[in-house]
Formats: sequence, C-alpha cells, structure tokens
Amino acid sequence: MDGDLDAEDVKALRMAMQGLQGSGWQPPAQAAEFRPQFADLESWVNGFFVLTFARTADQRWCAAWWDHAEAMLRLEALWRTWEVAALDPVRGMAGWIREHLDPNLNVLFGANGPFAACTPEQHVRPQVLPVTPPPDGWWSSSQQHWWDVLGEADR
Ligand SMILES: [Zn+2]
Repeated sequence: MDGDLDAEDVKALRMAMQGLQGSGWQPPAQAAEFRPQFADLESWVNGFFVLTFARTADQRWCAAWWDHAEAMLRLEALWRTWEVAALDPVRGMAGWIREHLDPNLNVLFGANGPFAACTPEQHVRPQVLPVTPPPDGWWSSSQQHWWDVLGEADR
C-alpha cells in the first residue's frame, strides 16, 4: 500500500460523508421549525468560516479543504453546532466558541493538522492510515477483549 487514496477509498469516504448528511440529524427541540442559515457545508465554509478565521502566515489551510476527510468531518461538526448555537442569541456563540470552535481550529490550522502537507499553492491529497489484517481467530469469541476485562471488573 502506498498510502494514496484510490478510487475505492474516495468512494468509501463519499459514502461515509453522505451517511452523515443523510443521518436524519435534527437540532433539539425546535426541529419542526428549524431552518439552517446556510443550506450546506460548502455555503457555510465559503460564506462564514473563511471570511471569519483567516489568521497569520503560519496558519495551515487548504483551498481544497473538501478533499480532506478529517477537515470535512470537523467542519461539518462545526457548521451543525454553529447552526444550533445561533438559536440562542445570548449564550449560543460563547458556548460554541469555547466548546467546539477553539478545539477544532487548533487542530484544523495546526502544523500537524489535516492540512499539514498542503501549502497555499499546492494541495496534497491526504493519505490513509496503514492497516494489517489481524491473525486468524483474532475477532472470535474465544479471544479476550477489553470489553471482557471491563465486564470482569464489575463483578
Ligand atoms: Zn489540501
């Protein structure tokens, strides 16, 4: 494995992202009347995120953010929680900044974050983590697993 995403990897990522988008997620309480301010993630990133959070020269970002699975996951989470936070005009954004934005910005813009290999001029397609198939029988019921150990601790 060379670590590059191939067509099957891209297909699997797209299916996972579509699963998130089609998961039936609804904001709490006011779901029946809720209308997001932005129609989709791309609108939120282009219409809010990139206009608000441009920082210093050492900030990592990629113009092809949509081709970074981790960034997509984090930005999708930020957009959804932002939409819900906007429903509370007093404390919504303060809580969103503290609980969701700051931890994710540190990762997104960080030197070891999802855009670490990209530069403003060049997008580098992300790699996938290597995996090795487990030995035969690894997942069988005779194998001791962490959840077995936890069950024993309760007895
Ligand atoms: Zn990139």
